[in-house]
Amino acid sequence: MSFLNAQEPTVVELVTDFGINIVWHPSMGLEIGQQVTDILEDCISGKIHIDIFVFEGTVIQGPNDTGTMNYFCERPMKYWVKELSAIADYVVAIGDCATWGGIPAVPPNPTDSTGLQFHKKDKGGYLGKDFISRSGMPVINIPGCPAHPDWMTQILVAISTGRIKDVIIDSYHRPTTFFNDFVQTGCTNARAFNEKVSGGFGKRGGCLFYEVGCRGPMTHASCNRILWNRQSSKTRANHPCLGCTEPGFPFHDLAKGSIFKTFKHLGFLPKELPEGENKLTHFFKAGVAKTVGLSKDMFTTTK
Ligand code: SF4
Repeated sequence: MSFLNAQEPTVVELVTDFGINIVWHPSMGLEIGQQVTDILEDCISGKIHIDIFVFEGTVIQGPNDTGTMNYFCERPMKYWVKELSAIADYVVAIGDCATWGGIPAVPPNPTDSTGLQFHKKDKGGYLGKDFISRSGMPVINIPGCPAHPDWMTQILVAISTGRIKDVIIDSYHRPTTFFNDFVQTGCTNARAFNEKVSGGFGKRGGCLFYEVGCRGPMTHASCNRILWNRQSSKTRANHPCLGCTEPGFPFHDLAKGSIFKTFKHLGFLPKELPEGENKLTHFFKAGVAKTVGLSKDMFTTTK
């Protein structure tokens, strides 16, 4: 559904401007039942050439590796996934479930869910750590819960225009174009973060890191550079970032009381800080910033 909200480019522009032929999509395809099975079989037999296989959703392998907990077109979905991945030039995983297993893979993981080429942080997943598609590339991961629609359409354009080899992917197979920087970049609360001014849900003028578990400083994604609906983002609306583009999501395996909470040492030192940041340095910098009075954010006015 997120895909249908793409704006730059839109899904319609993928078709009209970039010549992408969407062979089948669960929300847009007119075919149902046996017609879908026929399309998939034609793809696997080579009658229909598949340039890009885009998969969303976790791969359910259970119970006992049969995959029978998730049927699609008359047989376990996992078999379609393996066969379509084998014949496509490129394989793209969309969303946390397809990339690393997502919420269904949280222990005890009764469905034996996993991602296409990762299981949480470990390379492997359903297709295996050595999988490469016919183009020579591993699975391209576009994580998020949901993934940003423009990340999807722009990667599809890069593939369809022959520019995907110019796109660098990181160790988790995420295109660095979208996942090099942190969610905090562009957050309107960044100044409050530096000054350790704590905020709360929906409360303007503070940072959500200190009490309600915002993961913006540790999460690689461009949510505050490529805004959602070209309007806003979670943290701009003062909702904590949950870190959904990282393979550790959902963090703490959804243990009771672990969501929307900042874990602390001695009751006041956040246990997790941005990469490379020393705790004492962090609090020293915060103290200096407070002292010299840099507390205005973009919404603060002077009289
Ligand atoms: S609200 Fe989150 S992303 Fe924004 S400055 Fe605070 S910690 Fe960073």
